[in-house]
Amino acid sequence: MSSTLPRAHSRDHLPEQAPGWAFFLDVDGTLLEIKEQPELARPTPRIKSIVQHLQLVTQGAVALISGRSIETLDEIFLPLVLPAAGLHGLQRRDARGHLHTEAIAGKSLDHTRQMLQEFCRRYPGTLLEDKGMAVAVHYRNAPAAEGPARSVVHQALEELGRGFEMKSGKMVFEIRPAGDNKGSAIADFMREAPFQGRLPVFIGDDVTDEDGFDMVNHMGGYSIRVGDNGKSNARYRIPNVEMVLHWLEEYHYTHWQ
Ligand SMILES: [Mg+2]
Repeated sequence: MSSTLPRAHSRDHLPEQAPGWAFFLDVDGTLLEIKEQPELARPTPRIKSIVQHLQLVTQGAVALISGRSIETLDEIFLPLVLPAAGLHGLQRRDARGHLHTEAIAGKSLDHTRQMLQEFCRRYPGTLLEDKGMAVAVHYRNAPAAEGPARSVVHQALEELGRGFEMKSGKMVFEIRPAGDNKGSAIADFMREAPFQGRLPVFIGDDVTDEDGFDMVNHMGGYSIRVGDNGKSNARYRIPNVEMVLHWLEEYHYTHWQ
């Protein structure tokens, strides 16, 4: 069936769509516009329907690859329960619904959480996001707090010692156990049905997506970065969230049998 949608302006810069793809999709900044408060970003019915249709045409080979926890992804994508990697790959739920979680050796983030809470109280506009296995300081509403936020996160990491790392994203620093990342999560999905044997396509918008871009490049798939900002190993660029949604709709319309 041919598409009745208007053609996307940038399609010449994107890979030509073909059957047999597996889709790996970052959420914030890729499927959803970034909001000043991350908890306000919610998929619209249209976005849920795009993901659901994409699942239908790929025999289920669609996974969310996000920095959010799987619990939060389930809550915001309700009623969809999708294959997903959460916390940048520390959690993964495969297509059969089995949960794989990185085993964390001993140390708790309790003290780190307290330190960062204290920091956020001192710098109005900063926001602590508690993801359980990871904690993040957002400074989108307090850009001047970037330096101090970086310092307190480094200090917290020093106190935690080995086994933890910092991930910096768009106006956010996160402390998390070192280990799996978005790239390793994609590789794990690609070893399993219904992803196995398909061509991986990963769309993301941030530095934390670079591990995923590297992995799909390595696998001969397509890496696509949203937006023109920032250096990236992604082989393709797509201008914004709306164009991502449009391009995914186009895939569904073209490959619906
Ligand atoms: Mg993102």
